[in-house]
Amino acid sequence: TAPRALQAWLDGAFVDADSPQSPVTTHAMHYGSSVFEGIRSYALDDGGAAVFRLPEHLERMRKGAELLGIRFDVEQASEATLATLRRNGHRDAYIRPLAWCGTGSIGLDVGPQSQHLMVATFPTLVHIGGEGARLAVSSWRRNPATSLPPLKLGGAYINSILAKHEAKRRGFDEALFTDTDGYVVECTGANVFMVRDGRITAVEHRDALPGVTRDTLLKLTGAESRAVTLDELKQADEVFIVGTAAEVARIAGIEERRFEADRVGRDVAALYQRVVHGEEARRAEWLTHV
Ligand code: PMP
Repeated sequence: TAPRALQAWLDGAFVDADSPQSPVTTHAMHYGSSVFEGIRSYALDDGGAAVFRLPEHLERMRKGAELLGIRFDVEQASEATLATLRRNGHRDAYIRPLAWCGTGSIGLDVGPQSQHLMVATFPTLVHIGGEGARLAVSSWRRNPATSLPPLKLGGAYINSILAKHEAKRRGFDEALFTDTDGYVVECTGANVFMVRDGRITAVEHRDALPGVTRDTLLKLTGAESRAVTLDELKQADEVFIVGTAAEVARIAGIEERRFEADRVGRDVAALYQRVVHGEEARRAEWLTHV
């Protein structure tokens, strides 16, 4: 028999993930009036699976929904997430909840429209550590927090899309945002860390998304968190970027600068893998078992 199409949870029922057609008057399609998350689950040795830091991701989503004026029930989203993983039989998965404004008005105020919540899950491939991504310094500025708070609001990601597009066009893998004063902000979908003389530093910036992975690694490694200029980043021994999807990803270079070392980053990446797979008993509270 043909494998069942991927299922998504949509407003309380399961549907084929790729089939429901959004009405053309969907508010979010016009203005990006949506909030989403990127979450991961991992297979455990005992045959089960666990979602990594689910409450923290859903709390960030709740903040975005509150800002936009979209109703959001953390408990419902949590249950929908676990139900979708079970329904799709996914263990190693990328989880995408999305809340958005639907039909009813294409005016700019949020309220008259229908509101929706969906959760989709996608199988993730176990990826083999490559030789590292090459970063282009973006000519685009990150959305300043004073204009658009660093939350996972749909419309905000046009900023990341522009930067990614420019970097790819220039032959790089990923874009690095810096501010007008020369400070590093973040990448299009990941936060930045550097290593200098064995010391790990998490780049801090008010315009950067407060990443769950960044927080995880601060707690695991005791790294310092502070503002870092692009000049200083280029002088680091190692640079790596972190995020739910990226996990801990080595950076091979920034523009013309190459990084040869990756010893500390490799250790951090290995530690992160042990934690997300439930092999560090002290961090068991970060796992929500499916
Ligand atoms: N920055 C941006 C812009 C992102 O989209 C993401 C991915 N959510 C991150 C950083 C990393 O955040 P997290 O570790 O919570 O996935």
